[in-house]
Amino acid sequence: MRILYVTSEAFPLVKTGGLADVSGSLPAALKHLGADARILIPGYPQVLANLRDPQPLIELKWLPAIGNVQLIGGHMPDTGVPVIVIEHRDLYDRSGGPYSDTLGQEWGDNALRFGILSRIAAILSSKISPLVDWIPDIVHFNDWQAGLTAAYMRYSGAPHAKSVLGIHNLAFQGNFPPEWVEKLGLPRQAFAPEGLEFYGHLSFLKAGIYYADAITTVSPSYAREIQTAEYGFGLQGLLAHRARDIHGILNGIDTQEWNPAKDPYLPQNYDGNSLDKKVRVKQALQQRSGLHEDAAAPLLGVVSRLTHQKGLDLLLHCAPALLEQGCQLALLGSGDPALEQGFMLLAQQHPRQVSVSIGYNEALSHHIMAGADMFVMPSRFEPCGLNQMYGLRYGTPPVVRRTGGLADSVMDTNEFTLNRKTATGFVFDLATPEDLLATLLRALASYGDKNQWSAIQTNGMKTDLDWNRSAQAYLEIYRSL
Ligand code: ADP
Repeated sequence: MRILYVTSEAFPLVKTGGLADVSGSLPAALKHLGADARILIPGYPQVLANLRDPQPLIELKWLPAIGNVQLIGGHMPDTGVPVIVIEHRDLYDRSGGPYSDTLGQEWGDNALRFGILSRIAAILSSKISPLVDWIPDIVHFNDWQAGLTAAYMRYSGAPHAKSVLGIHNLAFQGNFPPEWVEKLGLPRQAFAPEGLEFYGHLSFLKAGIYYADAITTVSPSYAREIQTAEYGFGLQGLLAHRARDIHGILNGIDTQEWNPAKDPYLPQNYDGNSLDKKVRVKQALQQRSGLHEDAAAPLLGVVSRLTHQKGLDLLLHCAPALLEQGCQLALLGSGDPALEQGFMLLAQQHPRQVSVSIGYNEALSHHIMAGADMFVMPSRFEPCGLNQMYGLRYGTPPVVRRTGGLADSVMDTNEFTLNRKTATGFVFDLATPEDLLATLLRALASYGDKNQWSAIQTNGMKTDLDWNRSAQAYLEIYRSL
């Protein structure tokens, strides 16, 4: 089976969040199961610099609005999955991130930059594809950035392939002024409620939901939640209408990249049989972060985008009470200026108890994951979430809100789950500081009971988080189409 996996980021070529992790892992897991999966991605400088054995593949000529485009073939540096890169100087050769400039301002021509990604995905999956000897059976296109793929497939002639939209976060929809419909070469009559239109805008994600043959999302709970007003961001009606075609599959994690026994970013490696060594990682983290070097102080870890979604304002609210209990906090992230400032102020007031690093730092994220005692993720919504799974794998029990993939991957600690050896973390229901605090206090009580704590750590470390299980489920959907 040939699968074209269309994405705007893929680890380790380029990453801003969970989509990159999935795009790095899922095609590799599919390949491992015998499928022929290839990635299609825009050629930002980071992608071209990190691509293994790049070769010019083919030139696409006279595309509307942008002219000629060079496709480069290559491979993922670690897994060897084939990659097709769209090289276009004006569109992608810029300093800054994939979506925004160095000041965090979104690029003004994102509709064009990602419309082209969708358009080329459709060209490569049509019968007139210039890659004559590789036409996909399935085009799996992800999030709003690739959201127009199925619309282009519909309007550019009978498609050979079936299309699957992967939703990693419904909050980002790619909504643009209607002028873009024509500029992107889409038929004007498609700008309708039964088509591309969403509240007067051209919506990339809505178009994907409308035109895709099937829809996947990254956890079973999120698949249900997005069909409700609370989590649907206005798209719940259309999603409910497509309920039969929506499949929720929990992400796996890259168990090579995230392996405490081999992690090169850690000053000390450990596994389930040598959990006592984890304290040395904690000590090094306290040292590096300027925290009081106290093995007994419960150290809470956070690695996250600092946005409303992630609910870290709730943690900021209950931080004073936690610090009074002798807790420490190591936080890494960036995002809303108000949240950044709130946490930085907390660190200034309690430099020996709170360390805040603003920015993106792969090495520190691994160190926090391993060195913290527990990992906090109070998300208001969470399609899947990866960090709680990294926490499980690193013997750092997660404290999470019962939503989306958090609900599907973390088992709350209580008498019943302790007896059944299934307790892996702490789960709360309401997005309030009170509910979070009560649950953190419950986790702290458990932390004080060394036997109970190590049982929870061990249960988490034994959880099957491998991609293989999820990749099998994706293959079944592809086959059914
Ligand atoms: P989301 O995709 O919504 O941001 P996920 O939990 O699904 O959240 O994935 C986030 C990924 O990005 C994880 O791999 C996490 O470790 C990483 N990450 C987030 N913020 C940072 C940061 N500041 N530095 C390093 N890695 C980060």
